[in-house]
Amino acid sequence: MNVLIVFAHPEPKSLSASLRDVAIQELEAAGHTVRVSNLHAMRWKSAVDRTDFPSLAPDERLIPVAASKQAFSTDTLTDDVKAEIEKLLWADTLILQFPLWWFSMPAILKGWVDRVFAYGFAYGVGEHSDKRWGDRYGEGTLAGKRAMLIVTAGGWEEHYAPRGINGPIDDLLFPINHGILYYPGYNVLPSFVTYSTDRFDDVRFEAAAESLRDRMRTLETTRPIPYRRQNGGDYHIPAMQLRAELSGSSASGFALHLKDAAASTQSSSRKSA
Ligand code: FAD
Repeated sequence: MNVLIVFAHPEPKSLSASLRDVAIQELEAAGHTVRVSNLHAMRWKSAVDRTDFPSLAPDERLIPVAASKQAFSTDTLTDDVKAEIEKLLWADTLILQFPLWWFSMPAILKGWVDRVFAYGFAYGVGEHSDKRWGDRYGEGTLAGKRAMLIVTAGGWEEHYAPRGINGPIDDLLFPINHGILYYPGYNVLPSFVTYSTDRFDDVRFEAAAESLRDRMRTLETTRPIPYRRQNGGDYHIPAMQLRAELSGSSASGFALHLKDAAASTQSSSRKSA
């Protein structure tokens, strides 16, 4: 299997980097081929601007969606973006790895998504009509591939529990798992989240590393989060509303978009308390 790790941490000696190396070692030992996009080491440009669209005339208004569509369809995206798209097409599994910064991914990784997930590649795919709202949420260019998050969080696991003050970790990661990964078609695996990371030591590290090794060993067999498919009959088209009879009695909010909200596991954790 080909695995791409997109890694977002500025420090080569960080905890995140150590965990990344654990993952790589385990994957390679199992015979997988691993490539890494180390965004800081690559000096990745994160902001979308005019330089992303060299074919845009100097006096032409920049409309990012239209410019992205034009550049993708005419093969005029910049070379750094094309290289990342080539890696995504190569990879059977994508791993996004990052420290949780302000309850989300660091800006450099968000900027990787903004620039690489181009119109016609990751969105704007398939027929858009009042009968079909494109190939997305379970369908699209990256359908059939797997993806998952490896996340470190400074906060306690309890603070991210269903009644925790930070909000449930599954809800915080939903925009990434569902909105960024499931949208272009990935089967999204439960996230691997390590908590209380600012108080780490060798004992906690080894426990986290062992859990991560286990997740890497089962990468091909882990059951994806059972998100509902957009075109599977669960939603009214074009309103894209979940059919009333499917909402169940207990599910609400993001959990409505899970086929089996009660039974599903969206994140596995390495608690360190
Ligand atoms: P590092 O800082 O590199 O290391 C953490 C600890 O692990 C250190 O004590 C280090 O000595 C130790 N360590 C490193 N490598 C090893 C090793 N190989 N073996 C043993 N010990 C090791 N947290 C939240 O929960 N929610 C937030 O919203 C949030 N927002 C943040 C926003 C910003 C801008 C920043 C800077 C931090 C934020 N944090 C937040 C905290 C952040 O999530 C943690 O600092 C981060 O996850 C720690 O991971 P790291 O790779 O940066 O660890």
